[in-house]
Amino acid sequence: MTPSTQRLAPSETRILICDELSEIAVETFRANGFSPEVCTGLSEDELVATIPGAHAMVVRSATKVTRRVIEAADELRVIGRAGVGIDNVDRQAATENGIIVMNTPLGNTVTTAELAISLICSLSRHIPKADRRTRTGNWKKKGLMGTELTGKTLGVIGLGRIGQVAAKRALGLEMNVIAHDPYLTSRGGESPVQSVELLELDELLTRSDFVTLHVPLLDSTRNLLSEEKLALMKPGARLINAARGGLVDEAALATALEEGRLAGAALDVLAEEPPAPDHPLVGREDVILTPHLGASSHEAQENVARQVAEQISTFFLEGVANNAVNAPAVSAETLRKIAPYVLLAEKLGGFLRQRCEGAVRKLEITVSGEAKDSAEYLSLATLVGLLRSAEMGANYVNANLLAAERNIRVLNAVEEDAGAYQSLIKVRASTQGGEESHVVTGTIFGRSPRLVRIDDLHLDLDPSGHLLMTRHHDRPGVMGQLGTMIGESGLNISRLELGTAKGGEDDIALAFFSLDDEPSDGLVKSIRALAPIEEVRTINL
Ligand code: NAD
Repeated sequence: MTPSTQRLAPSETRILICDELSEIAVETFRANGFSPEVCTGLSEDELVATIPGAHAMVVRSATKVTRRVIEAADELRVIGRAGVGIDNVDRQAATENGIIVMNTPLGNTVTTAELAISLICSLSRHIPKADRRTRTGNWKKKGLMGTELTGKTLGVIGLGRIGQVAAKRALGLEMNVIAHDPYLTSRGGESPVQSVELLELDELLTRSDFVTLHVPLLDSTRNLLSEEKLALMKPGARLINAARGGLVDEAALATALEEGRLAGAALDVLAEEPPAPDHPLVGREDVILTPHLGASSHEAQENVARQVAEQISTFFLEGVANNAVNAPAVSAETLRKIAPYVLLAEKLGGFLRQRCEGAVRKLEITVSGEAKDSAEYLSLATLVGLLRSAEMGANYVNANLLAAERNIRVLNAVEEDAGAYQSLIKVRASTQGGEESHVVTGTIFGRSPRLVRIDDLHLDLDPSGHLLMTRHHDRPGVMGQLGTMIGESGLNISRLELGTAKGGEDDIALAFFSLDDEPSDGLVKSIRALAPIEEVRTINL
C-alpha cells in the first residue's frame, strides 16, 4: 500500500527503532522533537503486527524488512538503515510501495577500511594462528614465517569510500597500491587517490600480492572473484573480503588454498552467515574468519545511529531524503528554490492525465530558462503528476517504476531560451501509436503556476480546483448557453478563461470554467450534446 504524502508533525510521526542502536539515535530523534519507539528483536510475524501505522523504521542488519513486512505497512514512508549495505531490505518492494530506503554511507567508512588493513596485517604475520598455537603451549615458530607489507602490491577492487581509505592507509604502510573500479575507468577518470594506478580487473589480479574487495553486492558483482578470476591471482597472493559475502566463489577459494596457489584469505563476510560447520573454509589454518565485524567499532556505531536519526528527522521536517537509494537526491536549498516549478510540473502531468482520453504512453518534457538545471527532477515531478491518482498512488520513489510497468516512455529535453518567460515547462503526452497527442505549457507568475498554452491555444489559466473544459466551435451564443447551463446546475463560475486559435471558417475555442464544485455527470452529458461542442472534460487540479 502506498503511504500518503501529507506532511506530519513530529508528535504524529511514529518511528520504530527495530535493531540495537547506539542511544545516540533516540537522543537525536528527541532533540528533533520526535518520540521513537524501540522495539528490537521482533520476528517477521511480530513486525507485521507492529508495522501498521508506523511512518518510519530504523534497522541495522538483524531485522529483515521483507515484502511481507512492507506490504503490511500502511503508513510507512521511510526505512532508514544504520549502515551501508541494504541487503536486509527488500528494496524492490519498498520502491513499488513508494517507500524511501535510505542508508548512512559515511559512518562506517574508516572503521571498515581499518578492519581490512587489520586483516592484511594479521594475514601477513599469521597472527590468529600464532595466537592459537601459543595458547596451547606451542612456542615454535615453524609455519609462522611472515611476509613484510612494505613494497608489496595491494590491489583494491572498488575504489569508493572504503576502498579509498584502505588505499591511503596501505600507502602509509609503504605498499604499492593499484585499483580496479569500472565506474572510474569508464569515465576515463583519474584515480581519486594519488599514487594509485587504475587497472582492469585481470591485470590487478595478476599483479597483486594482496587483493582487498570494497564493492557492493549487486547482480553485476555477484561471484566477481569466480573460479576463473581466482585462477588469475598471483601465486602466493592473499585475499581479503570485508565487503559482502557472495562476491567470492568460496568453494573455488578453498580449492586454490588447498592446492597452495594462494597463501591465505581473510573473510569478514560470507555468502551464508554464519557459515555451516562443514564450510570448506572454516577448518583452514590459512584462513581468518571474523563475524561481519566491518562496522563494529564504537565510533562507527555512534556515527551511523546519529546519521540515520538526523536523516529521518530531516525527511519529516523538511521533506528532503538524504542518502536515499531509491529516490532522487535534491538538497533542501534546491527544493525550496524549485518548489513552485515542482508544483507546476505535477499540475502539468495531472492536467494531461485528465486531458487525454486514452492511456498516456509517451511523455516529452522540455524545460527552458532558469529551471532547466532541475530538468530531471521536474520531469519526475511531471510523471508523478501524470500517475498520481487514488489507485496508482505514485510518488517520487515509485514513479519511474510505475511508468516502466505501464510502458510509458519519458523523454527529457532542455532549452536555454524561454522567450518572454523566465522559465517554461512544456509537456507533450501521447497515447498508443500517437493516436492522441496533447501539449501543455506552463510557467510561474510570482510563485504561482500558470498554464500559458494548451495545444495551439494561448491563454492564462490558473491550474487549480475544479475546471470544466470545453472545446467548441467559436460561434455567437455558445458561451452564454454554457454559462446558463452551469448556473442552472447550481454551480458558481469563479473564473472563465478562453483560448482561441484563429483561422479557417469556423474557429475552435477552448473554454475553462473554474467552478466552486465538481460538475455532475448529468451536466457534462448535457453540454456534450450541444451542437457546437467538440469535447468536454472535467479536470481537477
Ligand atoms: P561505495 O559505493 O563508496 O564504493 C563502492 C565502489 O565499488 C564504487 O566506487 C563503485 O564504482 C565500485 N564498484 C561497483 N562495481 C564494481 C565492480 N564490478 N568492480 C570494481 N568496483 C566496482 O561503497 P563503500 O562505502 O566504499 O562500501 C563498499 C561496500 O562495503 C558496501 O557496499 C558494503 O557492502 C561493504 N561494507 C561492509 C561492511 C562490513 O561490515 N564488512 C561495512 C561497511 C560496508
